[in-house]
Amino acid sequence: MIVHYQFTDQQQHLREKVRALAIKKIKPLVKKADENGSFPRAAVESLAEAGLFGVKIPTQYGGMGCGLMEFSLVVEELARIDGAVATTFAASLLGTLPILLFGTEKQKQKYLPPLAGGKQIASFAISEPETGSDSSAIQTRAIKAGEKYRINGQKRFITKAGESEIISLFAVTDPVKGARGLSAFIIEKQYKGLSYGPQLQKLGIRASATRNIICQDLMVPEENLIGGKAGRGFIQAMKTFEHSRPGVAAQAVGIAQGSLDLALGYSKRRKQFGKPINTFQGLQWMLSDMEIQIEAARCLTYQVIGMVDRGEKAAAAAAAAKVFASDTAMKITTDAVQLHGGWGYMANFEVERFMRDAKVTQIYEGTNQILRNLIALRLIKGIDDIGL
Ligand SMILES: Cc1cc2nc3c(=O)[nH]c(=O)nc-3n(C[C@H](O)[C@H](O)[C@H](O)COP(=O)(O)OP(=O)(O)OC[C@H]3O[C@@H](n4cnc5c(N)ncnc54)[C@H](O)[C@@H]3O)c2cc1C
Repeated sequence: MIVHYQFTDQQQHLREKVRALAIKKIKPLVKKADENGSFPRAAVESLAEAGLFGVKIPTQYGGMGCGLMEFSLVVEELARIDGAVATTFAASLLGTLPILLFGTEKQKQKYLPPLAGGKQIASFAISEPETGSDSSAIQTRAIKAGEKYRINGQKRFITKAGESEIISLFAVTDPVKGARGLSAFIIEKQYKGLSYGPQLQKLGIRASATRNIICQDLMVPEENLIGGKAGRGFIQAMKTFEHSRPGVAAQAVGIAQGSLDLALGYSKRRKQFGKPINTFQGLQWMLSDMEIQIEAARCLTYQVIGMVDRGEKAAAAAAAAKVFASDTAMKITTDAVQLHGGWGYMANFEVERFMRDAKVTQIYEGTNQILRNLIALRLIKGIDDIGL
């Protein structure tokens, strides 16, 4: 890093701890997990042992009580080693956030402690076959049946589906009201009526499990309606993204940094024309540009995280950080492959995995096109996306 960031001692210590853990416990598992597309259960256990799933959960619920900054430092350091493990970790907070931000006290007391300890992990399920970029077009239906809700529908591309014990799931409770008719529910894995499609094969983050979810007469107790009030689902989802998108930006920064680390190392070792390739000015400038762009993405990301941690409105800023950092990650990882020459293209060298892993950060939690729409709305009309 060429920019000096004023980390607290606690943040610095956390960064170093996660970096050491990622190198020692996660790095050895990564290649095989990517090849096989197998869920990194051992990595999840290591993160749970270190208490990291509780980093952003308040101490009264068994967490470390830190902010989004500390959480994002964990994500960034994990992504510097492996994007799939970083996704697995970050998406657990994504699934936890609706409970953390909007849950009733009873819901928090019941669900947050096992999530903080990593005994359980969470998923977030909003996407559907007909609902991707347009989150308000959800078709999954939740109908009140006595003291329960009966849920029917399908969720698509859900990270950790089949592996997670808890799912924050969004469904329509009042079809007449559009976005105001959506509600969020806490689903436990053992509930009857919940099943999963097969593991989907992916371009990158291959070890991160992705499956569809099928809800067929899924019966959910009324007390699992997040926040205890129907019709709040859309705003809860949008607010959740405001907190989670900076985490995707941090993931993208980590992936970019990891690929620069590899490119730097290779450029010292590889010789052509009788000299290490890092003595050629063309490559020195490429390395400098990579460093500059990563630092720019990191600065924007940390700045936005600070806004979220101070409780400021940050929907457009979070979108900007996610767009800029993910576009940067795609560029940097492509350059890192280029700097490796032919070996960059081969699976033997892990730099190609970073390029494959970077791509998804431009797609999930709002594609970069949708996030640019959101920023444009703020620019042109001076309003945030939520509008509710
Ligand atoms: C690996 C992976 C993991 C995921 N995990 C989860 C998860 O855990 N939970 C979850 O709920 N979802 C998850 N998703 C889903 C993800 O959030 C969606 O794929 C994403 O929001 C895009 O939706 P879509 O795929 O339906 O694309 P579409 O919405 O069909 O978009 C197709 C293209 O059209 C563009 N587009 C659409 N509308 C507009 C517009 N108005 N203006 C300009 N361009 C537009 C998009 O940017 C995109 O390029 C995951 C996806 C992937 C790939």
